[in-house]
Amino acid sequence: MAWLERVAGGILALLYPEDDRCMLCGAQDCRADTGVCAACEARAKRHLPPRCGLCGRQTRGGGLCGNCRDAQVRYRGAVAYHYEGVVRDALHRLKFEGEARFTAFFAAGMARALRESGWPAPDVLVPVPSHSLRRLGRGYSLPGRLARALSSQTGIPVAHRALRRIALGAMPGRSREERIMLAGKAFAAGQASAVTGKRALLVDDITTTGSTLNACAGLLLSMGASAVYALAAAGGADPLT
Ligand SMILES: [Zn+2]
Ligand SMILES: [Zn+2]
Repeated sequence: MAWLERVAGGILALLYPEDDRCMLCGAQDCRADTGVCAACEARAKRHLPPRCGLCGRQTRGGGLCGNCRDAQVRYRGAVAYHYEGVVRDALHRLKFEGEARFTAFFAAGMARALRESGWPAPDVLVPVPSHSLRRLGRGYSLPGRLARALSSQTGIPVAHRALRRIALGAMPGRSREERIMLAGKAFAAGQASAVTGKRALLVDDITTTGSTLNACAGLLLSMGASAVYALAAAGGADPLT
Protein backbone atom coordinates (compact mmCIF):
# COMPACT_ATOMS: atom_id res chain seq x y z
CA MET A 1 0.00 0.00 0.00
CA ALA A 2 3.03 2.24 -0.27
CA TRP A 3 1.59 3.88 -3.36
CA LEU A 4 -1.53 4.85 -1.38
CA GLU A 5 0.63 6.53 1.25
CA ARG A 6 2.48 8.39 -1.49
CA VAL A 7 -0.80 9.59 -2.97
CA ALA A 8 -2.06 10.60 0.47
CA GLY A 9 1.25 12.39 1.11
CA GLY A 10 0.96 14.17 -2.21
CA ILE A 11 -2.55 15.37 -1.40
CA LEU A 12 -1.38 16.58 2.02
CA ALA A 13 1.55 18.39 0.38
CA LEU A 14 -0.94 20.13 -1.92
CA LEU A 15 -3.16 21.10 1.00
CA TYR A 16 -0.31 22.14 3.30
CA PRO A 17 2.56 22.79 0.91
CA GLU A 18 5.09 24.28 3.35
CA ASP A 19 3.90 23.14 6.75
CA ASP A 20 6.73 20.74 7.50
CA ARG A 21 9.41 22.45 5.46
CA CYS A 22 11.96 24.86 6.87
CA MET A 23 11.11 28.34 5.58
CA LEU A 24 14.79 29.11 5.03
CA CYS A 25 16.43 26.00 3.54
CA GLY A 26 13.35 23.96 2.57
CA ALA A 27 14.47 20.90 4.56
CA GLN A 28 11.60 18.55 5.26
CA ASP A 29 10.37 17.39 8.64
CA CYS A 30 10.94 20.78 10.21
CA ARG A 31 8.86 20.38 13.37
CA ALA A 32 9.89 23.61 15.04
CA ASP A 33 6.94 25.83 15.89
CA THR A 34 8.95 28.71 14.46
CA GLY A 35 8.98 27.16 10.97
CA VAL A 36 12.80 27.17 10.92
CA CYS A 37 14.83 23.93 11.19
CA ALA A 38 17.50 23.29 13.83
CA ALA A 39 20.36 23.67 11.31
CA CYS A 40 19.15 27.13 10.20
CA GLU A 41 18.44 28.15 13.79
CA ALA A 42 22.08 27.27 14.58
CA ARG A 43 23.27 29.48 11.70
CA ALA A 44 21.36 32.49 13.08
CA LYS A 45 24.12 34.25 15.04
CA ARG A 46 23.03 35.57 18.42
CA HIS A 47 24.48 38.59 20.22
CA LEU A 48 26.46 36.62 22.81
CA PRO A 49 28.61 37.98 25.68
CA PRO A 50 30.61 40.11 25.99
CA ARG A 51 27.89 42.65 25.26
CA CYS A 52 27.69 46.44 25.50
CA GLY A 53 26.42 47.31 28.99
CA LEU A 54 23.93 49.80 27.54
CA CYS A 55 22.53 48.79 24.13
CA GLY A 56 23.24 45.06 24.53
CA ARG A 57 24.97 44.43 21.20
CA GLN A 58 27.93 42.05 21.16
CA THR A 59 31.32 43.71 21.57
CA ARG A 60 34.75 42.20 21.14
CA GLY A 61 36.36 43.41 24.34
CA GLY A 62 33.40 44.08 26.63
CA GLY A 63 32.57 47.51 28.06
CA LEU A 64 30.55 49.98 26.01
CA CYS A 65 30.22 49.78 22.21
CA GLY A 66 31.31 52.56 19.86
CA ASN A 67 27.79 53.98 19.60
CA CYS A 68 27.19 54.18 23.34
CA ARG A 69 30.61 55.51 24.37
CA ASP A 70 29.85 59.09 23.37
CA ALA A 71 26.05 59.15 23.62
CA GLN A 72 23.66 59.72 26.49
CA VAL A 73 21.87 56.37 26.33
CA ARG A 74 18.51 56.40 28.11
CA TYR A 75 17.64 52.71 27.94
CA ARG A 76 19.05 49.25 28.59
CA GLY A 77 18.92 47.16 25.44
CA ALA A 78 19.12 43.61 24.16
CA VAL A 79 19.45 42.43 20.56
CA ALA A 80 18.40 38.92 19.56
CA TYR A 81 20.39 38.28 16.37
CA HIS A 82 23.22 39.69 14.29
CA TYR A 83 21.85 41.28 11.13
CA GLU A 84 23.59 38.95 8.64
CA GLY A 85 23.22 35.59 6.87
CA VAL A 86 19.98 33.69 7.43
CA VAL A 87 18.73 36.41 9.81
CA ARG A 88 19.12 39.07 7.14
CA ASP A 89 17.29 36.83 4.62
CA ALA A 90 14.45 36.08 7.04
CA LEU A 91 14.02 39.71 8.08
CA HIS A 92 13.98 40.90 4.46
CA ARG A 93 11.36 38.31 3.54
CA LEU A 94 9.25 39.31 6.55
CA LYS A 95 9.70 43.03 6.05
CA PHE A 96 9.56 43.46 2.28
CA GLU A 97 7.79 40.34 1.02
CA GLY A 98 5.26 40.07 3.85
CA GLU A 99 6.17 36.49 4.81
CA ALA A 100 4.44 36.76 8.16
CA ARG A 101 5.40 33.28 9.35
CA PHE A 102 8.89 34.59 10.18
CA THR A 103 7.30 36.67 12.97
CA ALA A 104 7.23 33.57 15.23
CA PHE A 105 10.92 32.88 14.58
CA PHE A 106 11.98 36.40 15.59
CA ALA A 107 9.54 36.61 18.52
CA ALA A 108 11.01 33.38 19.94
CA GLY A 109 14.56 34.78 19.67
CA MET A 110 13.47 38.04 21.28
CA ALA A 111 11.69 36.23 24.12
CA ARG A 112 14.89 34.27 24.80
CA ALA A 113 16.99 37.48 24.80
CA LEU A 114 14.48 39.01 27.23
CA ARG A 115 14.68 35.99 29.56
CA GLU A 116 18.49 36.13 29.50
CA SER A 117 18.62 39.90 30.14
CA GLY A 118 18.11 39.64 33.88
CA TRP A 119 15.90 42.76 33.80
CA PRO A 120 12.85 43.11 36.06
CA ALA A 121 9.73 42.06 34.16
CA PRO A 122 8.45 44.91 31.94
CA ASP A 123 4.87 46.12 32.50
CA VAL A 124 4.15 47.10 28.91
CA LEU A 125 5.52 46.58 25.36
CA VAL A 126 5.85 49.69 23.19
CA PRO A 127 6.48 49.08 19.47
CA VAL A 128 8.59 51.74 17.74
CA PRO A 129 6.01 53.43 15.50
CA SER A 130 6.46 52.90 11.77
CA HIS A 131 6.23 55.65 9.23
CA SER A 132 2.52 55.84 8.44
CA LEU A 133 3.09 55.70 4.66
CA ARG A 134 5.35 52.67 5.00
CA ARG A 135 2.73 51.00 7.18
CA LEU A 136 0.06 51.68 4.58
CA GLY A 137 2.24 50.21 1.84
CA ARG A 138 2.86 46.99 3.76
CA GLY A 139 -0.50 46.90 5.46
CA TYR A 140 1.01 46.51 8.93
CA SER A 141 3.70 47.80 11.25
CA LEU A 142 6.53 45.29 11.68
CA PRO A 143 7.53 46.37 15.23
CA GLY A 144 3.80 46.25 16.10
CA ARG A 145 3.52 42.73 14.77
CA LEU A 146 6.65 41.58 16.64
CA ALA A 147 5.32 43.18 19.84
CA ARG A 148 2.00 41.35 19.44
CA ALA A 149 3.79 38.00 18.96
CA LEU A 150 6.03 38.70 21.96
CA SER A 151 2.97 39.61 23.98
CA SER A 152 1.33 36.28 23.22
CA GLN A 153 4.52 34.49 24.37
CA THR A 154 5.11 36.55 27.53
CA GLY A 155 1.65 37.81 28.54
CA ILE A 156 2.92 41.42 28.67
CA PRO A 157 0.34 43.81 27.14
CA VAL A 158 1.14 46.05 24.13
CA ALA A 159 0.60 49.83 24.11
CA HIS A 160 0.29 50.47 20.38
CA ARG A 161 -0.51 54.16 20.79
CA ALA A 162 2.06 55.20 23.40
CA LEU A 163 4.23 56.84 20.72
CA ARG A 164 3.52 58.51 17.38
CA ARG A 165 5.67 58.89 14.27
CA ILE A 166 6.14 62.24 12.60
CA ALA A 167 6.79 62.18 8.84
CA LEU A 168 10.29 63.45 8.06
CA GLY A 169 11.15 61.77 4.78
CA ALA A 170 13.42 58.82 4.08
CA MET A 171 16.35 58.07 6.40
CA PRO A 172 18.45 55.73 4.19
CA GLY A 173 21.58 57.31 2.75
CA ARG A 174 21.87 59.93 5.45
CA SER A 175 24.97 60.17 7.61
CA ARG A 176 25.10 58.81 11.15
CA GLU A 177 25.01 62.36 12.57
CA GLU A 178 22.00 63.28 10.42
CA ARG A 179 20.17 60.11 11.45
CA ILE A 180 20.77 60.79 15.15
CA MET A 181 19.61 64.40 14.74
CA LEU A 182 16.51 63.38 12.71
CA ALA A 183 15.60 60.49 15.04
CA GLY A 184 15.17 63.03 17.84
CA LYS A 185 12.47 64.78 15.77
CA ALA A 186 10.78 61.74 14.24
CA PHE A 187 8.64 60.72 17.22
CA ALA A 188 6.13 62.34 19.55
CA ALA A 189 4.36 61.35 22.74
CA GLY A 190 1.05 59.53 22.30
CA GLN A 191 -1.11 58.00 25.01
CA ALA A 192 0.89 58.82 28.18
CA SER A 193 -1.46 56.91 30.51
CA ALA A 194 -0.31 53.66 28.86
CA VAL A 195 3.24 54.08 30.23
CA THR A 196 3.08 56.39 33.27
CA GLY A 197 4.70 54.73 36.29
CA LYS A 198 5.48 51.61 34.26
CA ARG A 199 8.60 49.77 33.10
CA ALA A 200 8.33 50.03 29.32
CA LEU A 201 9.98 47.66 26.84
CA LEU A 202 10.51 49.19 23.39
CA VAL A 203 10.25 46.69 20.52
CA ASP A 204 11.93 47.22 17.14
CA ASP A 205 12.92 45.07 14.16
CA ILE A 206 16.43 46.39 13.42
CA THR A 207 18.68 48.64 15.47
CA THR A 208 21.69 50.30 13.86
CA THR A 209 23.04 53.33 15.72
CA GLY A 210 20.50 53.02 18.54
CA SER A 211 19.40 56.61 17.88
CA THR A 212 15.77 55.63 17.19
CA LEU A 213 15.50 53.62 20.42
CA ASN A 214 17.21 56.43 22.34
CA ALA A 215 14.80 59.05 20.99
CA CYS A 216 11.80 56.87 21.87
CA ALA A 217 13.25 56.11 25.33
CA GLY A 218 13.66 59.83 26.05
CA LEU A 219 10.00 60.42 25.15
CA LEU A 220 8.74 57.52 27.28
CA LEU A 221 10.71 58.82 30.29
CA SER A 222 9.29 62.31 29.74
CA MET A 223 5.81 60.71 29.67
CA GLY A 224 6.43 59.23 33.13
CA ALA A 225 7.73 55.73 32.41
CA SER A 226 9.70 54.53 35.45
CA ALA A 227 12.35 52.79 33.31
CA VAL A 228 12.85 51.99 29.65
CA TYR A 229 14.31 48.81 28.16
CA ALA A 230 14.59 47.96 24.46
CA LEU A 231 14.57 44.74 22.51
CA ALA A 232 15.42 44.46 18.81
CA ALA A 233 15.09 41.41 16.59
CA ALA A 234 18.39 42.14 14.83
CA GLY A 235 21.27 44.55 14.94
CA GLY A 236 24.76 45.11 13.60
CA ALA A 237 27.93 44.34 15.49
CA ASP A 238 29.81 47.01 17.42
CA PRO A 239 30.97 49.42 14.67
CA LEU A 240 34.37 49.96 16.32
CA THR A 241 35.37 46.32 16.70
ZN1 LIG B 1 16.47 25.17 7.51
ZN1 LIG C 1 26.14 49.98 22.98
